[in-house]
Amino acid sequence: MTRTTREWQAADAAHFLHPFTDFQALAAKGSRIITRGEGIHIWDSEGQQILDAMSGLWCVNVGYGQQALVDAATEQMRTLPFYNSFFQTAHPAAIALAETLAELAPPGFQHVFYGSSGSESNDTVVRMVRRYWDIQGQPQRQILIGRHNGYHGSTMAGASLGGMAAMHAQGGLPIPGIAHIGQPHWHEHHRTPGTPEERAAFGLEAAGWLEAKIQELGPENVAAFIGEPVQGAGGVIIPPATYWPEIQRICDRHGILLVSDEVICGFGRTGQWFGCQTFGAKPDLITFAKGVTSGYVPLGGVLVGERVARALIERGGEFEHGYTYSGHPVACAVALANLRLIRERDLVRQVREDTGPYLAQAYAALADHPLVGHAETCGLMGALWLVRDKATLQPFGPEVGIGMACRAHCFGNGLIMRAVGDRMIIAPPLIITRAQIDELAARIRRCLDLTL
Ligand code: PLP
Repeated sequence: MTRTTREWQAADAAHFLHPFTDFQALAAKGSRIITRGEGIHIWDSEGQQILDAMSGLWCVNVGYGQQALVDAATEQMRTLPFYNSFFQTAHPAAIALAETLAELAPPGFQHVFYGSSGSESNDTVVRMVRRYWDIQGQPQRQILIGRHNGYHGSTMAGASLGGMAAMHAQGGLPIPGIAHIGQPHWHEHHRTPGTPEERAAFGLEAAGWLEAKIQELGPENVAAFIGEPVQGAGGVIIPPATYWPEIQRICDRHGILLVSDEVICGFGRTGQWFGCQTFGAKPDLITFAKGVTSGYVPLGGVLVGERVARALIERGGEFEHGYTYSGHPVACAVALANLRLIRERDLVRQVREDTGPYLAQAYAALADHPLVGHAETCGLMGALWLVRDKATLQPFGPEVGIGMACRAHCFGNGLIMRAVGDRMIIAPPLIITRAQIDELAARIRRCLDLTL
């Protein structure tokens, strides 16, 4: 269908309610119409090439235009486009993917429960952990603890687990039985860069907030703690190395289930297959989505560790939960092709040993920019904190809208970065090369200059 940009924008404004959008404001401005992608680039309807440093929405890990994924979808659609796995049936794609995920997951994960998104995966977690405690004869263990500014999706349970104040303000969230603690965000609490020792101590202090919350609620009432290894949508908040091992110790001490939301961090983003491996945690449940198919088709799920799996399988009876598209054949076939590609191209090791460290160097160099108070990366995720005064780390007030101003310059200059308050964040495709990281850093510097 060939239309002009204006025609697309008019139809868009007339009919399409975009997620997380002020509909009227967008209609006044007009959407940017994205028409195609190749590698790490996308193109808009005016023909402008854009470097997509957000991998779409943290998901196009193998980049755009991978024929192997297209072929896998085509072949599966031809053979069996859909069949469910509700009533004692299964199909090869879902079985083979479950087998592959069990191989790639940390030790102790042999089972997977499928959904179609990160939100559904985290909804599944709420039901699954409460069911687990029922089976254990401790039905009073109902409470799940998440973190302020965490993001676990947009469904009622997912958004409740998340700690986004603006989301809680609409729709009467959180649902009952959800509590939150603070996030391990150094600069939220300190106006200094912090020595490694100070940051290590802060990691323990922030993990201690979990202990305090458990004591407040009564350990016997707490079912699980959920967190993203690196808080992504919260602004790429990279915790001190001391944080996750201490969280693990606290959960172990009280027998509380630990859930790692790997919707962003899973499948190589941090330089390991799963972010919990980068940060030294051994969760009981891992939720995933996005990168499992590189976003080519929707798929999500929960990797279920031995402790929970044994209870559900051996003593749980029927688990009253599932989705029509749990284990959708086309999504599973695409995931298999995607994971095969990641393995064949050795992308996880490449992020860990080559492109991740190279991006860290490029970010260290950007830290000299007058607007940048702090630059940090973890694998192929990065954040620049924009400040009013670099010497004192005085932040801009929210009224300045510095992040949105910078984002607008990026948007106009062929670069997708995302603004979270005064943090500019990236998560480029895992296929990005060193030369493309140089190009990315040069474009970021140009956009920072324009924002000054
Ligand atoms: N969990 C995390 C960590 C996420 O970043 C997201 C989405 O960005 C979700 C869950 C929700 O995933 P979805 O949008 O696929 O429902």
